[in-house]
Formats: sequence, C-alpha cells, structure tokens
Amino acid sequence: MRASAPSPRHESRHEPANRGAAYRAETARVLRRRLDITVALFLLLVGCSIVLERAFHPERARIATLTYGVELALCLLAVAAVRLPVLVARAGEVATLLGAALALVLAWYNGRVGGSVERFATAEVCLLSGLFVLLPWGWRAQLAVAGTAFLSLGLQGNGPNGSEDLAYAVVALTAGAVTSVAGALFLDRYRHDAFVRTALLTEASELARDEAETATALARVGETLNAHLDQPDVLARVNALAVEVLGCDWSSTFVWDEQRAAFRFRTHAGVRPEVAAELAEVEFSRQSMPLVAALRPGMLVEIPDAADETRMPPALLRRWDVASELIAPISRRDEVVGVLVYGYRARTGAFSARQRRLALGIAHATAMTFEHARLIADLQAASRLKSEFVATMSHELRTPLNVVTGYADLLAEGTFGTLSPEQSDTVNRIRQSALELLELVNATLDIGRLEAGRDAACLAPFELEGVFGELDRDLTPLVPPRVSLGWWSSPQGARVLSDRTKVKTILKNLVGNALKFTPTGTVEVTAHVTGETLELAVRDTGIGIAAADIPTIFDMFRQVDGSCTRRFGGVGLGLHIVQRLVELLGGTIAVDSAPGVGSTFTVRLPAGRAAAATDSEATAPARASSGGTRAGS
Ligand code: ADP
Repeated sequence: MRASAPSPRHESRHEPANRGAAYRAETARVLRRRLDITVALFLLLVGCSIVLERAFHPERARIATLTYGVELALCLLAVAAVRLPVLVARAGEVATLLGAALALVLAWYNGRVGGSVERFATAEVCLLSGLFVLLPWGWRAQLAVAGTAFLSLGLQGNGPNGSEDLAYAVVALTAGAVTSVAGALFLDRYRHDAFVRTALLTEASELARDEAETATALARVGETLNAHLDQPDVLARVNALAVEVLGCDWSSTFVWDEQRAAFRFRTHAGVRPEVAAELAEVEFSRQSMPLVAALRPGMLVEIPDAADETRMPPALLRRWDVASELIAPISRRDEVVGVLVYGYRARTGAFSARQRRLALGIAHATAMTFEHARLIADLQAASRLKSEFVATMSHELRTPLNVVTGYADLLAEGTFGTLSPEQSDTVNRIRQSALELLELVNATLDIGRLEAGRDAACLAPFELEGVFGELDRDLTPLVPPRVSLGWWSSPQGARVLSDRTKVKTILKNLVGNALKFTPTGTVEVTAHVTGETLELAVRDTGIGIAAADIPTIFDMFRQVDGSCTRRFGGVGLGLHIVQRLVELLGGTIAVDSAPGVGSTFTVRLPAGRAAAATDSEATAPARASSGGTRAGS
C-alpha cells in the first residue's frame, strides 16, 4: 500500500526556484484581478470618447460603435480566457495580447476615420501609461504593447501639417513607450523585492514557530523522563509521547544487551500485541542485517518505503506493520546503546525535517535517562556491596566482642581471683564499653538487614504478655535505682497477629530509651487491642524532648545531645530501627514529649483477626478497661 509523502512544509520553501514559481503564480493572480479593473476603466473611457465622437462627428457614429463593439468583445474574451484552467497561469500573455490588440484597434479606427496623428499618439500614450500602472506584467509585456502601438503608426494618414505632425507624434509615442517600459521594469523589481522580503519574513516566523513547537515537545519529553525516571515504565511513556509529538502510528524502543551482543525489544506504544510478542523473541545482532550494522551515534536511519528496502527484508517489515520508519540511535559517547523507532503502518514517504529533529531530540533525552539508570544501578550495586561488607564485618566483630564481655564478666565475678577496687572499676569500664560496641554492632546488623530488604514481616498470633515478661527480664538490669518500670495490657491475655520478634525489638528500643533518659520517676508500657489495632505506648517521666528536635530523632545517628560530653550513651540508631520496623509492619509511630516532663512514644500496628477474636472474648470482664493486667515486675 502506498501513500504520498507528507507535504514537506518546511523543506521546500528554501528553494529559490520554488520562490520564483510562487512569485509568478502570485503575479498571475494579481493580474487576473487587475485585468477586470483595467478592462472596465478602458471601456468606460473609450465609451466616453465614442459619445464625444458621435456628438462632434455624427458621420462616424456607425464605425465608432462598431469599433467599440470589437473592443468590448476583445475585452470580454480576455477576461474570460484568463479564468480558463489552461490559461490561468498565462494571464500575462493573454493580457499582453489584449493590450496589443486594443492598440491596433485604436490605430485602425483613427486611420479609418482620418483622425489626426496627434490624436492617435495621445490615445496610444494614454493606453500605454494606463496599462503599465494598472497591470503588474513586467517590462517585456509593456514593450510588446508599446512596439505594437509604434508599428500601428503605419495605419495613420498624414495630418494637415504633414511630417511635422508625424514627427511630434513619433516623439510623444517614443516618450510614452520608453517611460512606460522603464516604469513597468522598476515596478516589477519593487514588487519582486517586496515579495521576497515578505516570503523571507514568513519563512523566518514559520521557522521560529517550528523551533518553539519542537522545543516544547522536547521539553515535555524531558519532563516525562524526569518525573518517571525511577519507574519501570519510563521508556513506554517516552514511546507514547513520541507517537503524539511526531504524529506517527507507533514507536518502540530496543536496548543493546551486552551479554547477547544484540538489540532487544524493550517497550512500545501503538504496536499490535501480536507484533510486540514476536519482536520480544527476536535478537538483532549487528551481523543480523545491514540495517543494524548501519547504526551510528547521532545519525538517523530512515526507511521511506518498506517495499523498496534493501537493508532489511521487506517481508519482515510488512509482517511487523512497517510501511515507513525512522530509527534514532540512543548513544552513550560513541556507542549505540539503544534505538528509538518511529513508524507508520500504511503511510510511506520521507519524514519531515521537524519529525527528524524531534526523533533525534527524543533519542538524545532518552540517552540521558539510560545514563541515569546506569548510574543508579552502579550506585545500588555499590550500596549493596557496602551493606554486605558492613554486615559481614559486624557479624565478625560480634564474636570477639562476646568473648571480651564474657571474660570481663568472669573477671568481675572473681573467677580468676579477687579484684582490687581499682581493677574492678577498670573491668567494669571494659565491660561497659564492650557492651556499647555490641549494641552498635547489633544495630548496624539490623539496619543492614532492613536496607537489604531481607527482613520481611513474619506474621503469627502471639500473646503480648509473654513478650512483656521476656522484656521485663532482659531490661531489669537497666532500670535505674530511682525508677519504676511497669507493664500493662488490656484486655487480659490479648493475642495479636503480628511479627513477635519485631514487636519485641520495637518495645525493647523504646523502653531502653525511656530507662536511659529517665533518671528518676516511672516508665510505663501499655498495650491496648482495639478492634484490629494494637496500640503500644511507652510513657516516661524523664528529660523529655524539645518540639524542635522531635522531627529529627528518627534519623540515623541523630541524637538530641550529640556532643562528646553527652550524659547518655547510645549510637543514634534505635529510633530509626523502630520506625523502619513499624513501617514494615504497616503501622505508625507518634511522639508526645515536653522537656522536663517526659515522653510518650505511641505505636499503632494492625493486629489482625487474632486480636479481634480476643477482643470479643474479653469485652465482658470489666477489669479489661479498669487498668488491665500487670506483667513482670
Ligand atoms: P540513642 O542510641 O541515642 O538512644 P535513638 O535513635 O534511640 O538513639 O534516639 C535518638 C535520640 O532521641 C536520643 O539520643 C535522644 O536524644 C532522643 N530520645 C529518644 N528517646 C527518648 C526519651 N524517651 N526521652 C528523651 N529523649 C529521647
């Protein structure tokens, strides 16, 4: 199926030959319009002179009317002729013939009635000047009519003053002919210059509009790429936009596969599903066909008509709905790393300059996305390596640290003999520092697991009071002498559906912090199961947190007092881990705190149907709402 090429609106206008043709066509159009006016004016003025002629010379009435009739017929014939399709472009020639014929008729009439030669000259000069002013037909046409007028002198008789009259008539006619031919020449030049200037201006403004449209389209592509850079469908979006801005039927992207050493079909817009499925199975290596081998950075490859294609089998192109296509390489430095293909299913013919510019521009913008994607992949790989390294190191650090704390414990307990107070103090310091280091190592391992996405939630029903009991045992050594730690659960024996280990880690971190930042007072842990929600609150009467610091305490390594002289230990990872775990379990965490008054950290988690079941079982006993159950010490 063949269709004509699109009108290359921006390509041909630079051709001077085309501009010349356009000028001639424009001249013919103006001539046709002006011929009507000229003819009307001529018939009116000649009509007036016929009236005068009949008044002053009644004997010439018949011949005058006959002459006028001939003139009228000639004029109407010419006006009709320039409207005939075959003569539409030859208005100049028709008008020239008419001018010459009228000059002859005027001369014939004057000669026939024996009019004076001056009168003849006056009439011809009037005709010549009228014609050159009214008709934009150039100097050649004017010269032809002037020549005819000159030659028609031969049709005149001798005036009463013989050769004197003739001499003056010749001078008048010569002056009229020369000035009118020169006038026609200059007028034509001015018109031509004005036409060229206007054409250039129109071209310039069209070019500017075209550039603006192209820039807008490319800006849209850039925005789309930017907005969806990290999304897997970014290339398909570019294909969809390419179809829209180029006005083609479909667009597809092929990406160079290093391992297979071939281009592979990646995304598309507008390609039939069967074709897409087939393309996905094909590998286009450089040796597979000359078309692939012809790909060079920055150079478009065009197939104006698939039927005439020699670099790729036309049957294959037909099978994949290609009537014509434009291939734009996506390049990184001097390497083609992919191609964007834009095509039509039925239309054949060359792509316009605008389409070609857009095709290259979109491919260029896409190349930057490829580069970004590559950098992101490199960064992710580097980050993965770092995490693995940190995890391995942390793991390896744990063993010697456990040995250090173990031996420190044995020393402190006097297993190797009684220690002096100084030795005991030193051993305690060693033990304390080793424990802090162990805490950091454990937190780093937790973060590593979370970052690597290896810490998936493992949901199972469990009893909260069991967790409370275990935590109470673990944390009792950390409770300062002037602080009381309490655990409350409502309803009694509440079971929840969540990840037991993660809930325990969350509580351990929050309660550990509360105990650390509460020199005196109380630390209270409460659990409420309402409907399908578990609400855990850790309330303390400690030092509290200023409102301005609350937004940052969940960041990694952020501590309200980050100075070297700070009173409280810690590494600034606890709350970050808590927040990540809460998110992983699909919950939220909130802080309510005031300096000097204390803090409350409230965690809300989905607790599932297990909780709902317990809730309905436990709604009856009033004690559930009047304080709940105390677990642990
Ligand atoms: P750290 O190891 O320092 O405890 P966290 O991430 O657990 O690290 O906490 C970050 C910071 O938030 C702490 O250093 C502290 O300034 C503040 N913070 C956390 N919990 C409390 C609390 N219960 N009372 C007062 N400040 C707290």
